[in-house]
Order: sequence, then C-alpha cells, then structure tokens
Amino acid sequence: MTDIDPLLAERYATVTQGIAEACRAAGRSVDEITTVVVTKFHPAALIEQLAALGVSDVGENRHQDAAPKAAALAALPLTWHFVGQLQSNKARAVTEYARVIHSVDRSSLVTALAKVERPIEVFLEVNLTDDPGRGGVEPGEVLRLAESVLDVPSLSLLGVMAVAPLDKPARAAFERLRSISDEVRALAPQASKISAGMSGDYAEAIAEGATHLRIGAAITGKRPAQP
Ligand SMILES: *Cc1c(COP(=O)(O)O)cnc(C)c1O
Repeated sequence: MTDIDPLLAERYATVTQGIAEACRAAGRSVDEITTVVVTKFHPAALIEQLAALGVSDVGENRHQDAAPKAAALAALPLTWHFVGQLQSNKARAVTEYARVIHSVDRSSLVTALAKVERPIEVFLEVNLTDDPGRGGVEPGEVLRLAESVLDVPSLSLLGVMAVAPLDKPARAAFERLRSISDEVRALAPQASKISAGMSGDYAEAIAEGATHLRIGAAITGKRPAQP
C-alpha cells in the first residue's frame, strides 16, 4: 500500500471540488473534463500517491525528468501527457511513454512525430501572447499546422492548447482559444478538445470550454528546489 500524504489528498479534493463547482457554474458535466496533474519537479513517489488517489493522467514538461519517472512507474495505469517544449530530436523518445503531446507548435515537429509511426494524440499549442518568441504557433498559422497533422495517419488531432498570458485576463485569452478551436473544428470536426487552465485559472478555462486541464501546484503543492 502507498502511504498518502494527507495534505496532498486534501489539495486534490479541493481542486476536484473546484472543478465540479466551475462545471456547475458553466452548465457543463464533469465527465467532459480530463484533469492532467502536472508533476514536473516532483519525484515518482508523489506520482504513485496521486495514482493511489485515483489520478489517471499526469503531465511532464521535460523529457530528461519525465523518462525515468515513467519508467519507474510503468506498472501503474497512468496516461502520460507531455506539456512542455519538445525538440524534434527528442520526439521519438518522448512517445515511448507519452501518449498525448500538448505542445505541437511547428511543422518540423509534426515531421519528426510522423517518423515514429506509433499512434500519438496531439494538441496544437497556440501562442496567445503578443511575443512571437513564446512557445506556440501563431493564431494565423494554426489551420496550416492542423492540416499537416491531418496528413499523418499515425497522429490523432485532439484540438488546441494554450497557456494564458500573464499580463491579460485569462478569461479573454481562453475565449480567443475557443474561437480558434471553432476554426479547427470546421476543418476537422473530431479535433474538438481544448487543453487550457492551470492552478490559477482553471475555472475560467472551464467557462470557455476547456476539456483538458493541466494542473500542477494547486494539487502537488510547492515544487521542490527548482532545477
Ligand atoms: C507547469 C505547467 C502547468 C501547471 O502549472 P501550475 O500553475 O503549477 O498549475 C500547466 N501547463 C504547462 C505547460 C506547464 O508547464
């Protein structure tokens, strides 16, 4: 049996309740929501506790940290999500454990993932900031990138993903993401998912149609020493 930290259990319960409340306020069912617990900087032992609490989806943002954790926990029924910037030369290695990649933001990465020839589910990460240097494809380029994913039989396009910019209200950013999602769905009706919402803004994301929340600190607690 895994010993579960009572504070972890409490934070998980609080967030689960917050998600239920936000769904109720938005007139949505909690069944529409997948909560990916982002466990970056935390050890495999914490992920084991999360699994014991009933968590089924975990997210990591750096391959070199994620790979050993995924290997150590391979026996657990977890779906691993990759949410960080992905270098093309790491694409194959990441797909050895991650079934879902939230951060596809350029056609060269699509080409690298296509070579893996393994079924992979992808979100297109959209840059909602005014800084083109930030992660994510520019909103005007999303449909072109979607087409390149749709051309690869081994890739399933789930939908769009974004991180809300820090300097603007999250709700407005997620409203914009929802309208970009509508454009993608006009091209690919099955690509109906929206990955949005973190510890501080998941209620706003739920109000704007998010289906995949990526929640870290509100559940895991403070990160241990940042590398
Ligand atoms: C770390 C991270 C999260 C979770 O952030 P919290 O604020 O800890 O909830 C979500 N998405 C991405 C891409 C991240 O890197």
